[in-house]
Amino acid sequence: MNDTKHHITDVVIIGSGAAGLSLALSLANYCKVSVISKGALTEGSTMYAQGGIAAVFDKQNDSIESHVEDTLQAGAGLCDREAVHYTATNAKQCLKWLIEQGVPFDMEFDEKGKERFHLTREGGHSHRRILHAADATGKAVQSTLISRVQAHPDITLLEFYNAIDLIIDKQAQEPVVKGLYVYNRKKEQVESISAKFVALATGGASKVYLYTSNPDVSSGDGIAMAWRAGCKVANMEFNQFHPTSLYHPELQNFLITEAMRGEGAHLKRPDGSRFMPDFDERAELAPRDIVARAIDFEMKRLGANCVYLDISHKDKDFIIEHFPTIYAKCLSVGLDITKEAIPVVPAAHYTCGGVMTDFSGKTDISNLYAIGEVAYTGLHGANRMASNSLLECIVFAHAAAKDILSKIEQHPEPSGVPAWDESRVTDSDEEIVITHNWHELRLFMWDYVGIVRSTKRLERALRRVELLKQEIHEYYANFRVSNNLLELRNLVQVAELIIRSALERKESRGLHYTLDYPELSDNPMPTILKPKSN
Ligand SMILES: Cc1cc2nc3c(=O)[nH]c(=O)nc-3n(C[C@H](O)[C@H](O)[C@H](O)COP(=O)(O)OP(=O)(O)OC[C@H]3O[C@@H](n4cnc5c(N)ncnc54)[C@H](O)[C@@H]3O)c2cc1C
Repeated sequence: MNDTKHHITDVVIIGSGAAGLSLALSLANYCKVSVISKGALTEGSTMYAQGGIAAVFDKQNDSIESHVEDTLQAGAGLCDREAVHYTATNAKQCLKWLIEQGVPFDMEFDEKGKERFHLTREGGHSHRRILHAADATGKAVQSTLISRVQAHPDITLLEFYNAIDLIIDKQAQEPVVKGLYVYNRKKEQVESISAKFVALATGGASKVYLYTSNPDVSSGDGIAMAWRAGCKVANMEFNQFHPTSLYHPELQNFLITEAMRGEGAHLKRPDGSRFMPDFDERAELAPRDIVARAIDFEMKRLGANCVYLDISHKDKDFIIEHFPTIYAKCLSVGLDITKEAIPVVPAAHYTCGGVMTDFSGKTDISNLYAIGEVAYTGLHGANRMASNSLLECIVFAHAAAKDILSKIEQHPEPSGVPAWDESRVTDSDEEIVITHNWHELRLFMWDYVGIVRSTKRLERALRRVELLKQEIHEYYANFRVSNNLLELRNLVQVAELIIRSALERKESRGLHYTLDYPELSDNPMPTILKPKSN
């Protein structure tokens, strides 16, 4: 019990995506930083981001006010105007910082032959303001930032370390974070880290749903850890679903771009009939949330596992030229999209809610920060506008760095933390319990707490989550931890927060749609949940 390996650092950052690595690079010239990542350093949603990052670069035609107004419009009346303004105002300088780090955004020549950034436009934006690196912006950001942190002498990278729980001193005048316990996945042992400051940059929680566009690491760990530690969380009912991800056992989490519908693909039922014209006069070109709801409705009505996206009526060369990646990927699993329809389902894509922070990324607990998708800053409101999320990662990473650096000099050296106690646990003999509960949780979240909700479905899900929570808690108390068990424990916690938030919202707004309250309320407020200990 006392041979726990112990690390000491100034700032420990949990997560190696855009948020975590930006924070690390902004701090490391001034203090010692450790970044821990649950899987490989590359693995997180950042790596898979396609479109780009929003910022006003075209001063002639665009303005910060316009970026603010578009974001507020997308957020359906629930954004915090100040947070939106803060983000949009800081966007350009954050993008310049990324450019200085070496991110290769696409360039073009203007009419006078001068080089400038190529800006694209995406849903919700009234101007061209998206910087991008072809259609793999996230990969460009992730690999650039990784090469920078790897080259920095004062950044320690702990790969395959899974953060278990924060260590909080609750005896202090106000609760203060002292460090955390981590599970070293390679050595299969628990270690501890003490630090002056801790930052959660653990990404979103979309893995709580059966179908998701996110990588496996998106299990809401940071939200669950912060909640257990005593932080408030907000707006957990707002999950963004992408309408069309491939439904295929050999190729999961693969998005089929909305551009395919833009180029004339039809959505069809298993019997081959089209259904979008029955739901909206814009048919397949209706907005993302309407298409996702229609697919969900048809799947539930027919008891179907998926619907089909069909572009095979178009010319073969046209399809291959416009969608080379999708064509190749689908062909790799034996699906020729020039001849047959693509099986698709909607997929959980983005967690708009999270750990409540101020504009410096500070949470309710002293010295604990939350940045990136794990956080609720008020930026996204009831619906996230495309390309604002990577932006939020950088803007709030920089803000958190500034705040930490303003305090670090006066902060005493990190103190010791209690050793991890394994004296009462044994090795699990029934791993099947974890596998089963994992699947059950993600399935009922999909069926009852997905795109279309009702009070009855939510209450049904809550009863199941309570049972699972109890079972997982007993398991956690009696058996040695494993990666799957830690993730399941967090997923079930996040599921409960989503359900409780959804039950509190007595209206349909943005990404939250319930059959029992289909109208908008007159006075919308964020849903804020407080842990009992607060
Ligand atoms: C397919 C796809 C396309 C997207 N396209 C865009 C786009 O074009 N533009 C845009 O702005 N946004 C886009 N997004 C959203 C955006 O990519 C994410 O919101 C953003 O990358 C989140 O960054 P992050 O740093 O907060 O978290 P992530 O990049 O998800 O990183 C989380 C990190 O935390 C680590 N971690 C998690 N739990 C633990 C734990 N317990 N212990 C240790 N480490 C842990 C993970 O290992 C990982 O390193 C897209 C998302 C997806 C999935």
